Amino acid sequence: MKRLIGILGASYCGSTVFGYTLGALPECTFMGETYWITQTDLNCTSCTIKKQPCSIITEDLRTQLKNNEGNYFKILADKCETDNIISTDKSVALYKDKIKNIDTVWIILFKSPWAQVTSHINHTSTKYSTEQYLNVLNNHYTNCVSFAGNALFIDFDFFSTNREQCLEYICNRLNLKYTADAIRYWNFTHHSVSGNTGAYTNVKDKINAANNVQDINEKIDWYKAVYRKTSVNDSRWKFQLSSEDWIKIGKHQYFAMYHDMLSKFSNNFMEWAGNNAT
Ligand SMILES: [Zn+2]
Repeated sequence: MKRLIGILGASYCGSTVFGYTLGALPECTFMGETYWITQTDLNCTSCTIKKQPCSIITEDLRTQLKNNEGNYFKILADKCETDNIISTDKSVALYKDKIKNIDTVWIILFKSPWAQVTSHINHTSTKYSTEQYLNVLNNHYTNCVSFAGNALFIDFDFFSTNREQCLEYICNRLNLKYTADAIRYWNFTHHSVSGNTGAYTNVKDKINAANNVQDINEKIDWYKAVYRKTSVNDSRWKFQLSSEDWIKIGKHQYFAMYHDMLSKFSNNFMEWAGNNAT
């Protein structure tokens, strides 16, 4: 049976870059935030950029999905002729009534509360207080954890700085064929829909603009430019939070939740790393 690899997490947790990377693995297809396909008339990101019609995200597909929501992810997997369909819909509500006739495996993607709060402040016009945003994060992840049950926890900060190691670990846990090439996801064809087009277009545009791709790849560490941009290791965010907010985050209930997710990730990872070493 085909399988949905459903990514759960909060907005700005790094899911687009993460999804593209998984989607570049063999027998995997990344479709982005799939709910956009039926809830908006957005078209495929890469085909729109190339000004060509998309062979996957078509009006016929939208109609099929709208008429058969229960089989939503089964229909997507069939359309892409893939074994593993990857979605970054992230919310329980966007998955739960759409997973008939398909196996499911859940990845809970998270990053540090400080980086998450800063990303939120930088990206959205919603005027949440730090406290309100922490409450939203706490409720959201509590919901994800209880829905997913036996999920794979992935720390995006770790992923973005230990890409090959972490991707190999994920492949091992999910019985996927590992290829290190997937890290350069922008070299692969994707048909996905996303509100966040930058993760694909920023890199593609820069490479296309260069006269000599070989040359520019040597000049710039694209891995760092792409993966670390959204990571806690890009330290610019540290100067954006006030010391009051910094302390508030550390004391919030969500911090305990984050710590719990981090320990699950670390335990899993250490266990796997230990087995692999022997
Ligand atoms: Zn397309």
